[in-house]
Amino acid sequence: MRPWLREALTDAERARARARLADGAEGFAFLGVGARWATKRWPMERFVALGELLARDLSLVPRYAVAPGEPDGVALRKLLPPERHAEIVETGFREAAAIASFARVIVSNDSAALHLGPALGVPTVGIFGSTVPAFGFAPRGPRDAVVETEIACRPCGVHGKRRCPLGHHRCMTEIAPPAVLEAVRRVTAGAEPGRGG
Ligand code: SF4
Repeated sequence: MRPWLREALTDAERARARARLADGAEGFAFLGVGARWATKRWPMERFVALGELLARDLSLVPRYAVAPGEPDGVALRKLLPPERHAEIVETGFREAAAIASFARVIVSNDSAALHLGPALGVPTVGIFGSTVPAFGFAPRGPRDAVVETEIACRPCGVHGKRRCPLGHHRCMTEIAPPAVLEAVRRVTAGAEPGRGG
């Protein structure tokens, strides 16, 4: 797929994004932690645990992308110590895209951030819960991957739901951070560090 969004970003937008990243423009993972529907959300605690694994094992700084004014930002500030709040990228879609264009990898729920990967030419890992890649929204490039469970109740809806109809949300809670880390390791293997160009 042609990275049409990378080509559509202006030089000024990318320069602002690079300035916002400061000296952290190289070697970071852009984490799309949000989703409109609850059943499409991997628990935030898992994303935070993944961020720690990414930093420790792959030297990738986590950048948690959240929409302005959403509860996700509040949740992250409770989970992360104050000295790590700079890892939270709370901004609109266009600036988020400009920042993600410098990422080594995007990891996201089945939500808007997931689609940034192919549109920017950045390796992408999709975490799928109540929806499935067969619906057609999964990234499918040679450096993309999907992490999911094989439980029988999937999928339980096309768009996701406000709560799990069965009450356990195992489609997401059974996905452990090391499984996502391994997917990141696979899609970033051999990739050049950062894509500033
Ligand atoms: S019913 Fe199954 S697929 Fe649907 S939200 Fe619950 S655990 Fe996930």
